[in-house]
Amino acid sequence: MITAYIGLGSNLLDPLAQLRKAVRAVADLPQSRLRRVSNAYRSAAVGPGEQPDYLNAVIQLDTDLEAPRLLAALQAIEQHQGRVRTVRWGPRSLDLDILLYGDARIDSPTLSVPHPAMRERNFVLYPLAAIAGPQLLLPDGEYLGTLTASCPRGDLVDTGLRLVD
Ligand code: AMP
Repeated sequence: MITAYIGLGSNLLDPLAQLRKAVRAVADLPQSRLRRVSNAYRSAAVGPGEQPDYLNAVIQLDTDLEAPRLLAALQAIEQHQGRVRTVRWGPRSLDLDILLYGDARIDSPTLSVPHPAMRERNFVLYPLAAIAGPQLLLPDGEYLGTLTASCPRGDLVDTGLRLVD
């Protein structure tokens, strides 16, 4: 099986409930096994206008699904949870990203892995480090700990809220 890391985010329609529901849906994916789930992390939204705070988390998933199939399955979960996305960078009920897919580097029109923005996003790097540890080696040969060291925690808060029972 491949070990994949999936980023979750929500800032609409009860974000905590959205994330918990998404974790259950990811756990139910075929040919896959949920390994670890970070706590929910809170941060102020980046984007146009006044938006509610974001909750983010990261899931470690062992899977035999090919990366494009995994992406399609995650998009189906987003749709099912009534994703609202009217404005680019605007509020959304649920966003799921493939952060890492084993050691793979993928650069297709619909899928870029490692996720191109993850290096700069504290709300990805810190929950990822919480479940994978700073020794996680990324496909480009960098340690996760190196990335967190150069990415300020800013206003990001570990809420301590768990997404699984
Ligand atoms: P977003 O607005 O962040 O949800 O972007 C969605 C689009 O990003 C989808 O159409 C995907 O095809 C594309 N995409 C590219 N790379 C990834 C990735 N690693 N994880 C999720 N979506 C991706």
